[in-house]
Amino acid sequence: MSGLYIHIPFCESKCAYCDFYSILRHDHIDEYINALHTEYDERRHELTEPVRTIYIGGGTPSILTLPQLDRLIKLFSDINPIEFTIEVNPEHITSEYSKYIASSPVNRVSIGIQSLCDAELSAISRRHNAACAVSAAETLRNAGITNLSLDLIFGLPHQSIESWTNTLNRAIALKPEHLSAYSLMYEPGTKLSAMLSTGKIRETPQEISEAMYHELCHVTASAGYEHYEISNFAIPGKRSCHNSSYWTFTPYLGLGAAAHSFDGKIRRYNPSNIKKYLAAPEHAFMTEEITQSQTINEYLMVRLRTIEGLDTGTFQSRFGNEALNRILVSAKPYLQSGKLVLTDNGILSIPPDHWLISDSILVDLFVD
Ligand code: SF4
Repeated sequence: MSGLYIHIPFCESKCAYCDFYSILRHDHIDEYINALHTEYDERRHELTEPVRTIYIGGGTPSILTLPQLDRLIKLFSDINPIEFTIEVNPEHITSEYSKYIASSPVNRVSIGIQSLCDAELSAISRRHNAACAVSAAETLRNAGITNLSLDLIFGLPHQSIESWTNTLNRAIALKPEHLSAYSLMYEPGTKLSAMLSTGKIRETPQEISEAMYHELCHVTASAGYEHYEISNFAIPGKRSCHNSSYWTFTPYLGLGAAAHSFDGKIRRYNPSNIKKYLAAPEHAFMTEEITQSQTINEYLMVRLRTIEGLDTGTFQSRFGNEALNRILVSAKPYLQSGKLVLTDNGILSIPPDHWLISDSILVDLFVD
């Protein structure tokens, strides 16, 4: 099985924390959809297995007009995926848009809510307020969307544990099937990073950030969500199939400017430059053959951040006995302290209450 990712790099304005590739001019959207068509036709052969999931992400996919979105979705009408997700921004969700989505092959909508506190949304330059975000989720639901995911961020400027708890409770009250929650990162070159370095805002202290993460785990668990990956929560049966396939090294093809592809051995990177992409959508990618140790380290990183953990039998057949032994030797102190667990049937995992320190554990397991 494989996945298809389509990147829509257009945004109406830049959010203060965002370092993704996106552009604010929209006069190339029709040309861009043509280019996606060309790229898909010329590169679909890279996927040797049937496509199981499609994900339209961004940027801001909901910036497309309905005729543009319809044209885009129809490019993939030869595929019958089990999961077809689109990312949307709350301010674009109308009743007409929601009805279109409900009648299309898209069967999952991910809404970039980020916070349900207006002051926090304003501090990160989001274009919507909390009422708009709630209304977007309700409008999509009323139109018949049965699989909703909400994206949230904690550790925002001016955010307290109380306001984070309030956001969480209000988000859960919308009964989303899925929640993704990430700790705010101050990426170099962003507006937020500049505000931090000039003292206009202060970084959330580590202990507050940790308390917010624990609150996230507590509130979601109480509401019946499975914490199935460090940042992802789902009601049973509603995990993200597309994201889960990244964590199992399932091959995927990424179409569009700044999209990545992976066929199991080779990564291909499309340019983060729309002009270069439009000039040769099917040939614009750069290729990187990843080394065995890079592959092992990526595999460790994605598997040990999931509730399933790493199956040492699968690891051994993929990377060999020597690699497994090296990992197990490095794992010893963490196994003794309980920060790693190895079950009788060979599953190595980080217990969820230690996921917050997973980076420091992983660094010690990585191979050179
Ligand atoms: S966070 Fe999303 S909407 Fe905001 S600038 Fe980045 S890609 Fe665009």
